Amino acid sequence: MDVILFGPPGAGKGTQAVAVCNTVGVPHVSTGDIFRRHLREGTELGLLAKSFMSKGELVPDETVVEIVGTRLSEPDAAGGVLFDGFPRTVNQAVLLDGWLRARGRKVDVVVNLVVPDEVVHARLSGRRSCLSCGASYHLLHLPPAVDGVCDRCGAAVVQRDDDSDDTVWRRLETYHSQTAPVLEWARSSCRVVDVDANQAISDVRLAVVAALSS
Ligand code: AMP
Repeated sequence: MDVILFGPPGAGKGTQAVAVCNTVGVPHVSTGDIFRRHLREGTELGLLAKSFMSKGELVPDETVVEIVGTRLSEPDAAGGVLFDGFPRTVNQAVLLDGWLRARGRKVDVVVNLVVPDEVVHARLSGRRSCLSCGASYHLLHLPPAVDGVCDRCGAAVVQRDDDSDDTVWRRLETYHSQTAPVLEWARSSCRVVDVDANQAISDVRLAVVAALSS
């Protein structure tokens, strides 16, 4: 099964991805996580991505498509994938569609997490992330047990550069201008289920899992 978890930054895609992967039994492919891993490893790709990410802009399609193509050729992706943060442009969506169809696959469902901009802004500016494993926390709603220390791996928990106030608004603008049109494309070519993601994480999870089985 190939699933796209769609929605603005801060909609909770990373959080819900765990439930989706457990339900469907497919690997989680997050382009943002791939870029952050490259950045931690100090690769050329990581530095290139950072120059766009820190401004709240999209990494160019040719770079994104190359890293996704590489990831999809790995054996664990042969039976389907959960895409998180990809596709983010109509061009990426069309290329993904062609890539899947050439292998007898298709996007089975797009789960669209719906959250108002103001809620996204409040979530992201309070978000803190683990530098090492990427686990996500929130200053008010989900702090780590020990301040500044990841519950999962013990590394430092900090604010991502791109979660700063100005950059969050820029990311939202980028979402509305370049990524939201992917939804129009999806509505005309695959099954899209809208999920209200402005509710408790456990309630969103129930709605997401229901969307997968309906
Ligand atoms: P995310 O963690 O998914 O919010 O991604 C963080 C940042 O990585 C985004 O704001 C973009 O700069 C970049 N990025 C992630 N995925 C993509 C993509 N599919 N296309 C272009 N840029 C991306």
